[in-house]
Amino acid sequence: MQQIVLATTNPGKAREFQDILGSVAEVLVPGDLPPVHEDGETLAENAYKKARSAADYLGRVAVADDSGLFVAALGGDPGVHSARFAGLESNDASNRSKLMSLMVGVPDRSAYFETVLCMCDPLATMAAAAFFHGRCDGWLLDHELGENGFGYDALFVPAEGDGRTFAEMAPHEKAMLSHRARAISNLRIYLTRQNI
Ligand code: IMP
Repeated sequence: MQQIVLATTNPGKAREFQDILGSVAEVLVPGDLPPVHEDGETLAENAYKKARSAADYLGRVAVADDSGLFVAALGGDPGVHSARFAGLESNDASNRSKLMSLMVGVPDRSAYFETVLCMCDPLATMAAAAFFHGRCDGWLLDHELGENGFGYDALFVPAEGDGRTFAEMAPHEKAMLSHRARAISNLRIYLTRQNI
């Protein structure tokens, strides 16, 4: 089975990758990696920076992800800045509060989550990289509902769901619809074809 390094320190993410990739690839989580400044203007730029840095540092094929929430009425904000929307000291709760306050009385509630994965091969010439996308469309509530998940989950209702927020869903229910799961599934298709 091929092995890929996942450039993350989040064990939950590594589990989600392994669950979806199954027997197609073994997901390895490195002990430590050089810090990467996630100052890209797009999810793809940040994912590339993290994957390239890990691949070059370890000399192995590496994958990194970057995700964000894109709100139509806010011109796509918080987007690539989702993790730090309320400032450098922000956390999930303060990010949600800022979003709710900006959306008071706004009729267009449409939003989507997007994930971009980047896979880099240190041995490939021309610094080759492959990108995989996943998207989940939905809308924002004006109040929080649900206790599960993280980030903006308590405000986001996926359009393909049953009206509950991501935070009201069990992890396996969210995984059927989520942007990240869809991006990982696209990586799985690519790796499966490579193995043929
Ligand atoms: P990351 O790239 O996965 O670390 O995501 C960056 C930020 O986007 C997180 O800190 C969250 O604020 C937000 N985000 C990404 N994915 C999700 C999700 O599935 N639910 C809620 N918020 C998310």
